[in-house]
Amino acid sequence: MRVFKSVWQRYAPTPEIAWLLEQFRQMLNDCIRIGLAENVTSLKSLSLKAYRQLSGYDVASYYKSCAISAATGILRNYRKAKRKNPCVKEPYARRPRLTTCYGFKVRDGELSLPIRAREHVRIYLNQHLQATINDFALRSVTLTKDRLSLAYTNEVQQLRPRGFIGIDRNLDNVTVAATDGTVQQHDLSEATRAKAVYRGVRSHFKRNDVRIRREISGKYGQKQRDKVRQILHRASKSIVEEAKAKQYGITMEKLTGIRKLYRRGNWQGRWYRGRMNSWSYAELQRQIEYKARWEGLPVIYVHPHGTSSRCSICGEHMKPEENRMLQCPSCGYMVDRDVNAAKNILVAGTLRFGVVDLAGEAVVAASATVRKSAKSMRGS
Ligand SMILES: [Zn+2]
Repeated sequence: MRVFKSVWQRYAPTPEIAWLLEQFRQMLNDCIRIGLAENVTSLKSLSLKAYRQLSGYDVASYYKSCAISAATGILRNYRKAKRKNPCVKEPYARRPRLTTCYGFKVRDGELSLPIRAREHVRIYLNQHLQATINDFALRSVTLTKDRLSLAYTNEVQQLRPRGFIGIDRNLDNVTVAATDGTVQQHDLSEATRAKAVYRGVRSHFKRNDVRIRREISGKYGQKQRDKVRQILHRASKSIVEEAKAKQYGITMEKLTGIRKLYRRGNWQGRWYRGRMNSWSYAELQRQIEYKARWEGLPVIYVHPHGTSSRCSICGEHMKPEENRMLQCPSCGYMVDRDVNAAKNILVAGTLRFGVVDLAGEAVVAASATVRKSAKSMRGS
């Protein structure tokens, strides 16, 4: 199985690179415009329609293909979004961002990038980046106006898991329940505090004001996201290391967009909370997934329905108690709600994978027939 990772560093674009980024942005917008006007969806037909239009750009031809392929992806996402919401805005690339799989080379600690035919620029790569990519094949380069990111790839054998871990993400922690019965919590309150710094920024504006959107997607938001990302990296690293040591697969909830994002009433506005949280929930999953795949650990997603309200032992609807505890009216099980959710996710994943004898009591909860026999066993 081929797996990917990426690593980035800051850099200062030379005038040639800044020029290339701007050319790429314009080509991308040309392709998007053509795709929208001609209602083209496939890469092949967009290539046929757009390639000649791009002939006026004096850049290496790799970039024309890359712009067409990037535009195809953007158009596909746009069509998908439009089916759900007909008012969605037509796509337009405002920021410079270039990704290429072709034409670049890394040699002697430098990245060499074509600008035009037989004309290259070099960018110095820092020690950390050089050491990271050292043993691997390179896949692509992405440049923005201040960052350079390299994607690299490896071939791994997928492990046959000896068990699973179920991961439940909450506002302030991530809770991990494992097949061997252990439960671990990683504190994420520091990330919540980093996100909270927005409060000061946004309190001056009305909700959904265009200025707030700019703040959150702008330079200030970038800083906060970097901070949160770093905190999530610590948690995801330790979770995957633990899973690797035990040779366990990973089960997470499929993010449906609404669950939990609006749950807690506090000073945060609902709009802000949804936006920042959905990003950080997705970011943690993204990190865990690519780190786990890199190690050959299987990753599966389960539907979140009922994970926070169902008893992880017998499957009954739980009653909330004080201090974030839940109690089951049927079997009497008393448990922290985050732990219960993680256990339910573990059960769902274990069942999905078809390994029924791995999780002991936990497996019983999600299967109606097994549940009955478990009840009668307890009764006797
Ligand atoms: Zn129960």
